Amino acid sequence: MPTTSSTATHDVVLIGGGIMSATLGVLLQKLEPTWSIALYENLDQAGLESSDPWNNAGTGHAALCELNYSPMDKNGRVDVTKALGINEQFWITRQFWSSLVADGTLKDPKSFINPLPHMSFVWGDDHADYLRARYEAMSAQPVFAGMEHSEDPEQIRAWAPLLIGGRESGQRLAASRHTGGTDVDFGSLTRQLVTAMAGAGAEVRFGHKVTGLTRGADGRWEVKVKNKAAGSEVVDRARFVFIGAGGGTLPLLQKSGIPEAKGFGGFPVSGQFLRCTDESAGTTDRAIGEEARSVA
Ligand SMILES: Cc1cc2nc3c(=O)[nH]c(=O)nc-3n(C[C@H](O)[C@H](O)[C@H](O)COP(=O)(O)OP(=O)(O)OC[C@H]3O[C@@H](n4cnc5c(N)ncnc54)[C@H](O)[C@@H]3O)c2cc1C
Repeated sequence: MPTTSSTATHDVVLIGGGIMSATLGVLLQKLEPTWSIALYENLDQAGLESSDPWNNAGTGHAALCELNYSPMDKNGRVDVTKALGINEQFWITRQFWSSLVADGTLKDPKSFINPLPHMSFVWGDDHADYLRARYEAMSAQPVFAGMEHSEDPEQIRAWAPLLIGGRESGQRLAASRHTGGTDVDFGSLTRQLVTAMAGAGAEVRFGHKVTGLTRGADGRWEVKVKNKAAGSEVVDRARFVFIGAGGGTLPLLQKSGIPEAKGFGGFPVSGQFLRCTDESAGTTDRAIGEEARSVA
């Protein structure tokens, strides 16, 4: 049981200190500089959950290598509509980050974004046929025009040596590659954004877990927050609440009682990341092992 209880009042409460809350917080400070903002994070630092660099693949999603943005229909036609939209969104994101570097909110861009070729690699006839059809549909679009494609194991070896060694010969392989991809360290980015938010007046509280969320009679949200070290409780009364709690979002959304929370479900997403530290292998230090991703 909490030993003491106090109240606070803010225009905006951000729940969670990942890339989502950090981005929204900085954006709000630019658009509504007079609003008061509080950010509550359960852990002792920002960006340690999904936004941590070793908890996601780190590709800046620009639809260069993510095959789920370019599905094939039953007639064998690859639809690139979604891929085009995602690519455009990533360019807008890059413009936003550029503006934050220009105004000093973010430091050296190399601390969070670096060039990295993006590559999709498949094997087997069905998958190789799909990848070729995707390449033909994508490379016809100006934003994807630089895409390369090959079924030659030696070419693929030159692109990514570790993918080829030890494979059975005769297996059909295919790869598409774009050198305009990026590697994004969302953990570094998150921490820089949260530090900037705090410097611009936001109250950032680590080690604070949000346990409940209800709407008061006056329309303000009452956000219950536990200070884990002190064992005390704060009730923060806010005009707006953003739940950016990653895997902890859904239970809080359900506690809010808003009708929009109904009908959603979720289950864990995992990834395995393999790191090669042998520079003579001629590849980057990060290769994606497996990634299973599902949203209900
Ligand atoms: C395996 C994998 C691979 C991925 N690969 C990519 C990729 O290549 N490119 C890409 O763009 N995206 C990728 N993603 C997605 C990306 O990592 C996430 O979309 C993004 O990091 C989510 O950020 P977030 O702020 O919503 O959540 P998080 O970073 O998880 O932040 C949520 C925060 O909320 C805190 N929290 C939770 N509950 C509470 C509570 N009750 N009170 C207070 N704080 C709370 C947590 O401690 C955490 O710090 C990947 C994700 C996974 C899992």
